[in-house]
Amino acid sequence: MSKVKHIVIIGAGLVGSMHAIYLARRGYQVSVFEQLPDIRKEVIPAGRSINLALANRGIDALDRLGLMDQVKPLLISMQGRMLHNEHGELKFQSYGQKPEEVIYSVSRAGLVSLLRDAAEATGKVAFQFKTECVDIDFDHNHCQLRSKLDDSTQTVAFDYLIGADGGGSQVRESMKGLHETEFTADILDHSYKELTVPAGADDDFQMEKEALHIWPRNDFMLIGLPNPDATFTVTLFMPNDGPISFASVNDKASLHQLFDEQFADVKPLIPDLEHDYFNNPTGYLGTIRCNDWHYKNVVLSGDAAHAIVPFHGQGMNAGFEDCVAMEKALDQFNDDWDLAMPAFVESRMANSNAIADMALENYVEMRSSVNDPKFHLKKAIAFELEKRLPEYFIPRYSMVMFHLIPYATAFARGKIQFKILDSLVEGIDDIADVDFERAERLVKQKLPRL
Ligand SMILES: Cc1cc2nc3c(=O)[nH]c(=O)nc-3n(C[C@H](O)[C@H](O)[C@H](O)COP(=O)(O)OP(=O)(O)OC[C@H]3O[C@@H](n4cnc5c(N)ncnc54)[C@H](O)[C@@H]3O)c2cc1C
Repeated sequence: MSKVKHIVIIGAGLVGSMHAIYLARRGYQVSVFEQLPDIRKEVIPAGRSINLALANRGIDALDRLGLMDQVKPLLISMQGRMLHNEHGELKFQSYGQKPEEVIYSVSRAGLVSLLRDAAEATGKVAFQFKTECVDIDFDHNHCQLRSKLDDSTQTVAFDYLIGADGGGSQVRESMKGLHETEFTADILDHSYKELTVPAGADDDFQMEKEALHIWPRNDFMLIGLPNPDATFTVTLFMPNDGPISFASVNDKASLHQLFDEQFADVKPLIPDLEHDYFNNPTGYLGTIRCNDWHYKNVVLSGDAAHAIVPFHGQGMNAGFEDCVAMEKALDQFNDDWDLAMPAFVESRMANSNAIADMALENYVEMRSSVNDPKFHLKKAIAFELEKRLPEYFIPRYSMVMFHLIPYATAFARGKIQFKILDSLVEGIDDIADVDFERAERLVKQKLPRL
């Protein structure tokens, strides 16, 4: 067992910063290198997703660090989806059926700053910003870093290195071809653009505050999440090409036509529509899958290992769950990293693939299925089955967002549950017509007790 004392983390994003806290608490000396400036000291564009949905897995990881009291003031609860149709009519759909079954909008910058402060407060974590990792020597446990300030380079030794450098990971890139590490990157043919609904004249929210707003339009959609300053970050997801796409909406006239026809109720609330649309970057979306995240004394975590599309609001939550999984593996193997890291990867691989698949499926649910009355009927039946048989049936969305049930289990049970629900709604349009005796029989036959 090699003695591990000094950990290098590449990337001080949400996941890298959280790993730093967990590892410092175990007594390790941690050096974190981040290519960007420190958002606590310099205003830098968020780049992507100004706010995020925090759910149970992320909350659990923060709670274990005793940070939830500090995080709470940053949160706005979202009880469900507020669906906006083309005529501006609203329909609210609750996410869960218990008071605690809500998700929370949180600012990326606020949360990452809090994590960095908490890491520094341990006295064992040193951050170095504007410093990018350019190469790794896996045989001698060195990494090559380059300063973004003056282009100077430095070589830093590590006992173990964690690549938490996001979807475009340089650490992962350095691993490619070594050992048998392979990865695939499936870029979605839809992209996104962020827009802003400012606070109203009275500094108050201009739409229902405690909801995730969705304008589902089948092939494309707009979503809005509330921010503590009473603004909403509104994100347009659209195909890259096609009749309504980033390629076709390419001038002021087509932009106004899109919003007049599809999003008329929110258009007056986005005074900088033209500016935001034509100046904010168009973000691409993709899924990264790796067959291994671990080689010699280097391991990947968070988006570097398993970037997913954002439609289940789980990328950060899954990354925070990685931090807990690594902690558990180190506990299990008494900090023997040679044993703990393969166990960590093993515990996460199937789960990461499952949430990647569920996130892709949820795009269809958000932009299209929610327009189907049968979808709402199934949702109502699922809630009723959960009430009747809580030890057997929990709606899949709830398993992912409100529980710590492994993603792979939620995915597998979800497939069976969807089949049961499909069979129950055949030929009926009203929950009053559901044969719940049959439904309960089916559930008990097909699903093992949780
Ligand atoms: C539009 C959108 C909406 C989203 N919404 C949600 C949501 O609602 N809920 C949710 O849970 N997740 C959401 N996500 C996913 C979430 O943003 C990611 O899963 C999360 O940021 C992953 O954290 P990370 O620390 O692994 O990676 P990142 O946040 O990407 O951080 C990586 C860090 O590494 C740094 N870095 C990169 N390369 C180098 C290098 N070579 N050297 C040094 N530093 C480097 C980067 O600058 C960055 O700071 C969303 C994502 C998008 C795109």
